[in-house]
Amino acid sequence: MDYQALLEQIQHQLQPVIGQGRVASYIPELAKVSPHHFGMAVVELDGTVHAVGDARVPFSIQSISKLFTLLMAFQCEGDALWQRVGREPSGNPFNSLVQLEHESGIPRNPFINAGALVLADILCTRFAVPENAVVEFMRRLAGEKDIQYDRRVARSERDTAHRNAAMAYFMRSFGNLRNPVPQVLDAYCRHCAIEMNCVDLARAVLVLANRGVVPHSGERLLSASAAKRVSALMLTCGTYDAAGDFAFRVGLPAKSGVGGGILALVPGECGVCVWSPGLEPSGNSLAGSLALETFTTLTGRSIF
Ligand code: GLU
Repeated sequence: MDYQALLEQIQHQLQPVIGQGRVASYIPELAKVSPHHFGMAVVELDGTVHAVGDARVPFSIQSISKLFTLLMAFQCEGDALWQRVGREPSGNPFNSLVQLEHESGIPRNPFINAGALVLADILCTRFAVPENAVVEFMRRLAGEKDIQYDRRVARSERDTAHRNAAMAYFMRSFGNLRNPVPQVLDAYCRHCAIEMNCVDLARAVLVLANRGVVPHSGERLLSASAAKRVSALMLTCGTYDAAGDFAFRVGLPAKSGVGGGILALVPGECGVCVWSPGLEPSGNSLAGSLALETFTTLTGRSIF
């Protein structure tokens, strides 16, 4: 498969829609990003990189961090994790509070904000400085030592995190957060503020495409079964309240973020990451979703 030519074709085909959609503005620092960026990368299991456009420009990974904090929390807790967070699509916006009351403070899945706050709580219990542990984990997976979180983005989100604070206090009232809420919120906002580019993210997700083994180091990080489970959650819950439509259109496990990134994988083959900050109303990148849809249509590489 000539992935480089394919990416060039996708970028060319998408020119008319790049810049459409709305950049997330509820986190003030994110509102400053131009909607006209577009980057896309494919990294194959043998490490071969294909990239176009802004694929090497760092962006705010936002909710894509939830995928990696899930891997870390799963490593820490094993199956006990599922007593504190569910595995069903929520059918509600990512920052919704409504289900938490009916479901006694147990979030529907790890990829909505409430679920990721539970993951952050687990990491606060396990690590003295959880944001450094997550950054270190990302560096290991991506084989890139320059990864960092953006302090201005983290501060901007923390200053406006009223809704996440409400969720966190609510879950704490049910006993599903163990650490002080301000500490959990600090960690969560710093995880979301990690900056990475498409190439590094596509390389980092290879651990799932390669059934739990980091291809460039040979390190087994997860069992094959855990990699399968996390990939399944990406398919059913990874792209906000549009995960059904995304599976229908794209047919790959993926995790998106309001920074405009979408990270996907083709099991046994490659990681794919696209970034374009203009969002659809669902919160997924508009050009990014179309790019991945075109990718699977042209290559036939979906899981179905
Ligand atoms: N940091 C964002 C929030 O908590 C993440 C949102 C996202 O990318 O889905 O609202």
